[in-house]
Amino acid sequence: MKTSTDRRRFLRLTMAGIIGITLGDQILQKKALASTELAHLEEDDPQAAALKYTHKSPHADQHCSNCMLLQGNEGDEWRPCAIFPGKAVNAKGWCSAWTAKPA
Ligand code: SF4
Repeated sequence: MKTSTDRRRFLRLTMAGIIGITLGDQILQKKALASTELAHLEEDDPQAAALKYTHKSPHADQHCSNCMLLQGNEGDEWRPCAIFPGKAVNAKGWCSAWTAKPA
């Protein structure tokens, strides 16, 4: 037999679950949008220029897509980079902070 305390507890747990699912879903949506909505890093951005960033790497074997500092989704043309927070770099780009991705 259910008591009013059981019902209150059930309602509290249900509400907590609904709030948790809603917040979790919003966080996942923000993460998914993050890499696609970032502004592209411009080559003439002062920080980019200081690190000689270019959208097309001058090195055959060094490019953003094989740099360990690149973030985001594999295969995306523009992705976040740890060196340039809030901006996306071209996967074919390069800068002087390039660091080989561990094999
Ligand atoms: Fe590209 Fe430089 Fe960022 Fe590496 S650190 S991903 S080379 S912009």
